[in-house]
Amino acid sequence: RLSSQNKHSKIITVPAKTSEIPAESAGKLFLDKLKTHNRDAVALHEIKTGISCTYGDLVTKSTNFAINLQRTLGVVQNDNVAIFAENSHKFWVATLACLYLAVPFHLLNPEFTIYELKRYLMMSDPKVVICQKQAVSNVQSLRNECTFIKSIVHYSDDGVGDKDVVSFKDLLKENQNVSFEAEKVTEINDRVAYIINSSGTSGLPKGVMIPHATLRTNISHYIDPNLYPYHSDSVLLHVLRFQHIFAFTICFAAMYEGNKVVMTDPSSGPQTYIENIEKHKISQMFIVPIIVDYLATNPLVDQHDMSSVKEIHSGGSLLPSAIHDKTLKKFRIKAVRQVYGATELGIAVFISPPGSFIPESCGKLTPGTSIKIIDINTGELLGCNQRGEICVKATTMKGYIKDPENTRAAFDADGFYRTGDVGYYDEDLNFYIVDRLTDIIKYESRQVPPAELEDILLKHPAIKDVAVVGKPDRKGEVAVAFVVKKKGVEVGEKEIVEFEKKFVTEEKWLHGGVRFVDNIPRNRSGKISRKDLRKLLEEELK
Ligand code: ATP
Ligand code: MG
Repeated sequence: RLSSQNKHSKIITVPAKTSEIPAESAGKLFLDKLKTHNRDAVALHEIKTGISCTYGDLVTKSTNFAINLQRTLGVVQNDNVAIFAENSHKFWVATLACLYLAVPFHLLNPEFTIYELKRYLMMSDPKVVICQKQAVSNVQSLRNECTFIKSIVHYSDDGVGDKDVVSFKDLLKENQNVSFEAEKVTEINDRVAYIINSSGTSGLPKGVMIPHATLRTNISHYIDPNLYPYHSDSVLLHVLRFQHIFAFTICFAAMYEGNKVVMTDPSSGPQTYIENIEKHKISQMFIVPIIVDYLATNPLVDQHDMSSVKEIHSGGSLLPSAIHDKTLKKFRIKAVRQVYGATELGIAVFISPPGSFIPESCGKLTPGTSIKIIDINTGELLGCNQRGEICVKATTMKGYIKDPENTRAAFDADGFYRTGDVGYYDEDLNFYIVDRLTDIIKYESRQVPPAELEDILLKHPAIKDVAVVGKPDRKGEVAVAFVVKKKGVEVGEKEIVEFEKKFVTEEKWLHGGVRFVDNIPRNRSGKISRKDLRKLLEEELK
């Protein structure tokens, strides 16, 4: 299927499989498809409230919401809407309504402080903000500075006594004799469907504009039996926040397919996940490594029936092999499938093939993508088994919102998105992520990927969690391991340093030693916040 299979070839392409999907806006595609689903089948189930929303309800509510956004709140083309990503069916009602109207919506984290909120509202200038009732006062307090906000909608059903603040229920009102059609969009590559923030691992999160065509690619991947063999009868458990690209796109595609999505708040914890896997006979999960680890190490897993689980997908950061192996002992699956993507890409670029396991690999290239690996110093195109920066051409983001400079810098002259990740592919075109360009430790002239060292250290029986960062040194940088010990187990620096030496060559030894800590700082998507650890090492140098 590959247009170029030769191991010496430098750009690898897998043709798109979108031809059977009309080249329409994501909203039109979705609404047309939604009407073909069984009206009584459950689309979304909320664990926390016990509320189920059927496909019939979803059509009615989302179309009414769209009509009322236009009629009651005066939302027109070129307006933006901001939506707090609560893990509820109401979030999807609001989101789908905006998609039908082809009005871009900005996904916001419901836990934002006022300070953070202001930054994101200033990015997208939304006319309407849809949020939790508790967040209304925060949004209100920013209205003097954010004069573009004309109305606030909250997810509760009761009013708050302010004429510019509308309850969700008000926007679900039926409009007699109004027929509704999703807005037609011809420029699907160009028109922005939604704005989503990156995770902020390397700096402040960026506002990423994703066009309609990218959601069409998400659908084409999800319904491709080579990528997702169980797509037509899946029951998904969603525990990640929908403000994260992985959770958002998978849930969108799953509803396009008429699957049942069971969801809960990310804070509800492993016990809730495990009980509900059994209760709802969950077949698929799309999670991040830290949650895979919670599941693999929780003794409750043995007390519940997990046999419905056919696939676990892990994305967002490298899945350490120790976590992978533990998971296979707990679930009757052949492999935890890795998924690699980025907010800017809007799609999964690598997915490991169903049921097969290639150690350390994050899979094969998905349809509709081209890849090249370039030398990080010279920019020269590299071939098989050569490590360099991964660059991707696909229906990616349109750019960063209000940031033409960074948008230009994100793409090379040939239109490839520069991921900032170092990786390579083998003879069979399996891809491997080594690490982020900015995290690679430079020891003399040699490169040391911290993720590789973490993978090794996690195999040590006394180590619960670990993060490796570079510390400035006369050799350039040396690797330092921040280690969280398991409870009740003793281990010293020397033992860890010696253990690690057994696996790797000299440049990868922990020349900077070990620091014992109580926990590893992580960002909201569970990724190691290396910038915080680097700061600790800088303090040592002072
Ligand atoms: P920011 O761009 O704001 O610094 P971020 O890059 O962490 O944050 P995301 O877009 O959520 O924000 O994450 C994409 C990045 O996550 C990728 O560039 C890559 O570094 C990492 N990543 C995603 N999936 C995988 C995977 N399966 N294996 C290894 N790394 C992954
Ligand atoms: Mg990034």
